[in-house]
Amino acid sequence: MIQASAGSRCVTVTTTEEKPAIDIDDVDLEFIEIIKKTGGPNIQNCYQCGACSGSCPAGALTNFLVRCIIRKALLGLKEEVISSPDLWYCTTCYACTDRCPQDVKPTDVIKAIRNIAVAEGYMLGPHQKVAAKVVEAAHAVPLDKESWQNLRVKVGLEPVPPNASGNPWAIDEIRKITKKSGFEKLIGYEEFMKAQKEKAKKKAEEKKAQKEAEEKKAQKKE
Ligand code: SF4
Ligand code: SF4
Repeated sequence: MIQASAGSRCVTVTTTEEKPAIDIDDVDLEFIEIIKKTGGPNIQNCYQCGACSGSCPAGALTNFLVRCIIRKALLGLKEEVISSPDLWYCTTCYACTDRCPQDVKPTDVIKAIRNIAVAEGYMLGPHQKVAAKVVEAAHAVPLDKESWQNLRVKVGLEPVPPNASGNPWAIDEIRKITKKSGFEKLIGYEEFMKAQKEKAKKKAEEKKAQKEAEEKKAQKKE
């Protein structure tokens, strides 16, 4: 097999004597039905014109090809689609949805597939971080840095905007909702926070060790 792989772009070349590119055991036709029921009812209208990928700002900067994801989904390649980091590159700008001549609504298809991916334990780290912020601070992008808050005060604003993240009562309520609804479990909140704490601890230890090494070096010079 000649494989010219660039990220997950559809550029695998298979010679005639090689096995087919798709293994029938990897095909899950139920996948299309789930997508159709959960946000992408028109996915089978796609005739692969490429207008979506041609409009896509995320695709202009990365290997992300929304048309390719839709094609693979239509082929039933569930595992390949839901485990691909590319799935998370979409910014949900809706340019593809505006331009799709077949009313596939690719943005909604991507969102439906993301929901399936998360339910099966696949989520990209930065997205997990944002979801954890909703649990922790009742806002996906809370203004929780002192420097940002100082900047707001400097221009005559309250340190925190008047949203849930500035209200301890609302934070408590949202925490109850995220727990009871199963959102925390879905995004792996506890495990994620534990890993974050360990990461921060390791970073602090490394910083301390580096500082001590620099101090020793400076003392030797004296
Ligand atoms: S623009 Fe619509 S029809 Fe064309 S490839 Fe994209 S999803 Fe398919
Ligand atoms: S919604 Fe997503 S897939 Fe569609 S054009 Fe925007 S970034 Fe690309």
